[in-house]
Amino acid sequence: MTPLPLGFDAPPETLFDEKAIAVRVKELGAEIAGKRRGSDLTVVSISNGATIFAADLVRAIDLPLRLDSLSARSYDGTESSGEVVFTPHLKLDPRGRNILLVDDILDTGRTLRRVVEYLKDAGAESVETCVMLDKPARRVVGMEADFVGFEIPDVFVVGYGLDYDEYFRNLPYIGTLPGTASIG
Ligand code: 5GP
Ligand code: MG
Repeated sequence: MTPLPLGFDAPPETLFDEKAIAVRVKELGAEIAGKRRGSDLTVVSISNGATIFAADLVRAIDLPLRLDSLSARSYDGTESSGEVVFTPHLKLDPRGRNILLVDDILDTGRTLRRVVEYLKDAGAESVETCVMLDKPARRVVGMEADFVGFEIPDVFVVGYGLDYDEYFRNLPYIGTLPGTASIG
């Protein structure tokens, strides 16, 4: 059973199935833990999109860590402004912390770059970044993630936290929506 919102009669086409995602998330967790062995880690996920990925990722990181989140979105509707609006309501103080910032997808790069900047300004000791998906073809600002799940071409994807009009976040796999080559 696929959770199809009104107006959709075919489910998204699978790009990465549940199994492939689970395998890759485990690898990412091990990579992160291996690199950071011995150091305290604060994971900050960018909601809503990264919520599901972050939930799986933190359970694959075998390190003492703390989990926090902030909310951000990038207005890109007109192709011009690309302004990133976010509410930095962290519960944990980033000062002096080694932070792993987690997002669902790295697209233009604006969101991640803006939030990294914010965390550094707030006194974080270090900020590393991890994204489930990377669309390098869409980049408009200089930003690369330290850890990437999968690189993908310029297609609009949904599922595993990623939405279309806030739907499809609960889809357990990552898929493409027919007729949405590139939105936002
Ligand atoms: P950036 O600031 O890198 O352009 O934007 C990243 C944000 O744009 C992501 O967190 C996500 O919310 C949204 N986004 C970018 N590409 C896609 C996509 O293919 N599918 C969905 N659902 N959201 C996307
Ligand atoms: Mg997002």
